[in-house]
Amino acid sequence: MRYSKELLYKVGHAFLRATGSNEAEARIVAEHMVEANLKGHDSHGVGMIGMYTNYLKKGQIKPNAPLGVIKDKGAVLQFNGNLGYGQRIGYEATHRAIDRAKETGICMYTIAQSCHLGRIGTYGEMAAEAGMVSVHFVNVNEFHPLVAPYCGSEARFGTNPFCVAMPATDEYGPFILDFATSIVAMGKTRVAMLAHKKFDEPVIVDPEGNLTNDPGVMWNDHPGALLAFAKHKGSGLCFACELMAGILSRGHTIQPGHPRNDSIVNNMTAFVIDPAALCDLDFMKSEMDAMIDYVKSSHMADPVNHPILMPGEIE
Ligand code: NAD
Repeated sequence: MRYSKELLYKVGHAFLRATGSNEAEARIVAEHMVEANLKGHDSHGVGMIGMYTNYLKKGQIKPNAPLGVIKDKGAVLQFNGNLGYGQRIGYEATHRAIDRAKETGICMYTIAQSCHLGRIGTYGEMAAEAGMVSVHFVNVNEFHPLVAPYCGSEARFGTNPFCVAMPATDEYGPFILDFATSIVAMGKTRVAMLAHKKFDEPVIVDPEGNLTNDPGVMWNDHPGALLAFAKHKGSGLCFACELMAGILSRGHTIQPGHPRNDSIVNNMTAFVIDPAALCDLDFMKSEMDAMIDYVKSSHMADPVNHPILMPGEIE
């Protein structure tokens, strides 16, 4: 089925308004979801409405919850999401961090206990749009763990996304590296299962410890666990997201001492950096252009079907 982005926005916006969100929140969350669809991440698009409906029924999302300020001191901003829609909490917090970084050169900002922050690249894009560089570590609370540590076959982490963003140059769009630290995001197993598709490679370990490409294994009564990307390296980055986001935000990690209610609550620890505080902007842009050109000049086995892309380019 194909729908126009206008219709998707209308449906998302109408759902949010009908379930209590004010106009500003409905606009920000609906735009975020539709943009996720357009960026190829249906796992974070308007398909989330079903999950959010369940959260609303159980009081696990608080429409219009204010962005709480825990600390506002120089280059450090700490926020509490108060279980508000993460797309709006993340939007407001990132705007505040960008404004602060313009004054202080760098702003470290954290968000604790926000409902699902959605596609983390959205916040990297906001920073890049403002001419800033940003780095984001995110972990997941409340939901049961989904990702096995390297060499393990039981889940111990969320899909803990990581993002690095750099501004556009005259030649290229922004550099947006934004991914789950599992080989695939959990939402992609839902999308693949509903489309009756299997993954091209094993991305899941089943409860018996067998590797599999069947997305349905994640939706059984006794589900398997997602594999972290790049063996010990991805598993290590996933672990770093857990500690950086779970602790420095004052949210918490996914360790079993904390209660879980099966909703997705995110914590984020992020840095917005004003590159002008560190280097000449013409130098930055010319180095980026030269480096990206150099990367793209690598010999390609199949330039038509598999061209070299910069993270953030349309795949
Ligand atoms: P993915 O595997 O599609 O990887 C996306 C990244 O890889 C992008 O930076 C993209 O530009 C780059 N990329 C893709 N193909 C490329 C190519 N051929 N050459 C160069 N670069 C390429 O993403 P994912 O891991 O499935 O994550 C999807 C989304 O889910 C992300 O936006 C992430 O933030 C989000 N997510 C959110 C949560 C949460 O709890 N809020 C959890 C997990 C994931």
